[in-house]
Amino acid sequence: MSAALAIALSALAMTAIVGLRYLATSGGFAWLTGKLRPGFYDDLKPQIGREIYWSLASAAIYGVPAGIVAWGWANEGWTLIYGDLSAMPLWHFPLSILAYLFAHDTWFFWTHRLMHRPRWFRLAHSVHHASRPPTAWAAMSFHPIEAVTGAVVIPALVFLIPIHIAALAIVLAIMTLMGVTNHMGWEMFPRRVVQGVVGRWLITASHHQRHHDEYRCNYGLYFRFWDRLCGTDKGLGTFEAAAAGARRGGAGAARHEPGAAA
Ligand SMILES: [Zn+2]
Ligand SMILES: [Zn+2]
Repeated sequence: MSAALAIALSALAMTAIVGLRYLATSGGFAWLTGKLRPGFYDDLKPQIGREIYWSLASAAIYGVPAGIVAWGWANEGWTLIYGDLSAMPLWHFPLSILAYLFAHDTWFFWTHRLMHRPRWFRLAHSVHHASRPPTAWAAMSFHPIEAVTGAVVIPALVFLIPIHIAALAIVLAIMTLMGVTNHMGWEMFPRRVVQGVVGRWLITASHHQRHHDEYRCNYGLYFRFWDRLCGTDKGLGTFEAAAAGARRGGAGAARHEPGAAA
């Protein structure tokens, strides 16, 4: 088989994996939402259709760099991914997970700020914010331009920071789970966790909900570090607006015109 064909097949396989992972995770939490809060998403069905459409398109985009890098890893010895635990000191395992999350968070924060510049917002990021309120299906609901900025992060990091294959799997699992749960429209963690030390530094649904409600605050992905440093952290939001929006049939979509720069 030619290398080009093998790379194309690898990209296709990665697209399928990312797409199925999205459907399983978002579907799982949407199901859970229906069990715990019957009727919560009932008025949002047209919006959910769009969220799934954009998310599957994003899965195809995520699959390309991931497929290329996976092919190079298997065939050409690319990347700093290692499989032998003794290849690095043990402390490197948790530290690499933190380093990946922090690097991803930093990249996301600054590209997200850029995405809120009026031009980029109109061109791309408005797709993500059309989810009012977001649902568990909105996790990958991005315009293709924004999907590209997200798709390159992990494939680039594996060339820069050594990581054990299991640690990489943990990073991808955290990325997937937080992407879904932060958009779910309700908080799954107990109040004392969200309002305690953990919640002061980690982003959960209560924090990201406020970004979807107010646009010009709470830009972070995993940590509140950059928001706090830049003065854009407005604290935790509430889900009343989301519930009211759901009752109105998600009619809040045209309510905001985010014009000013981030
Ligand atoms: Zn969001
Ligand atoms: Zn945004």
